Amino acid sequence: MVRIKRERRRKLYLLAAACVSCVAVLVLLIISLLFLIKSGSDKVYDAGLTEAVAEAPEAPGEKDVPFTPKTDKPENGKNGIPENSAPEKTDTSLSADSAPDMPGQIDDDSLQDENSLVNGDIPMKGEDEKVYITFDDGPSVFTNEILDILKEYNVKATFFVCGTGDNDESLRPVYKRIVDEGHTIGMHSYSHVYSRVYGDLDMFQYDLDKIRNLIYNETGVVPKYYRFPGGSGNTIASLPMEQYISVLYSQGMEYYDWNVYGGDSSGNRLSSENIIKNTLDGVDRRKTAVILLHDTGSRKNTVDALPGILEGLKERGADIRAIDDDTPPLHQYLDNN
Ligand SMILES: [Zn+2]
Repeated sequence: MVRIKRERRRKLYLLAAACVSCVAVLVLLIISLLFLIKSGSDKVYDAGLTEAVAEAPEAPGEKDVPFTPKTDKPENGKNGIPENSAPEKTDTSLSADSAPDMPGQIDDDSLQDENSLVNGDIPMKGEDEKVYITFDDGPSVFTNEILDILKEYNVKATFFVCGTGDNDESLRPVYKRIVDEGHTIGMHSYSHVYSRVYGDLDMFQYDLDKIRNLIYNETGVVPKYYRFPGGSGNTIASLPMEQYISVLYSQGMEYYDWNVYGGDSSGNRLSSENIIKNTLDGVDRRKTAVILLHDTGSRKNTVDALPGILEGLKERGADIRAIDDDTPPLHQYLDNN
């Protein structure tokens, strides 16, 4: 009797063990199944994400900005400003990589140019009377015509150029012609798009390197004079202007604003007569004048005004010169703030 009971209990144990094993296997199967379903859905999610990233267009100008902090201590040159060293010769020809950096349309200076007009002769007061004619925004389809007129009047000027030659191959020889005919070539940013030039200091340096390299590659001249788009008194820079100015100074560059404005920014539609009058009236109020004119495809009136301006200046016996190392800097920002 006892033996039969023991035998029955043993069978019950075996049955219970078998049931537990079955349940365990079932649980394992369910867990495995859930895991498989989850990893499968992750793969679908990953695939979707990859596709989405691949389709996202790259924002031009915001990626691959090769800014290298200047760690080399620059040697001091004239006036305590470091000597301007030659940039590396690089290929800045039109390519898929460089094209987005030079937009088809540059920002219009009309509103900003009034801000950077220097009121008065300081710090040029006391200098001999001189007149510096400067052209911003070129090269353009009119630069050759401007150069022809300057040659006819035997006058040297200063051209603060942009990267427009990267949009139009026919403009590329113009950089060299400016230099060959004895004019001064300066930088007016590469893109002339305010948000890119003044985005932050890395973007400013990137844009600066591009225009500097372009000018050097086209002309063999290392440019060292800069004109801020909208002038140093602009109201659109995202950082205080001292910071951009420091970037220029740390690399041996100087910047120039203006104290006479022809009023010929692309947004304005002044007649040639008005541009001549604005310019000559401005010169009459200054001992030393730095005149701002524009060299853009939309400024035919500036070209038409140029002979009248030059004749008016000659009548006044003006000493017309291109900016060089002896030209005292004319600063709106540092002198007015
Ligand atoms: Zn400009």
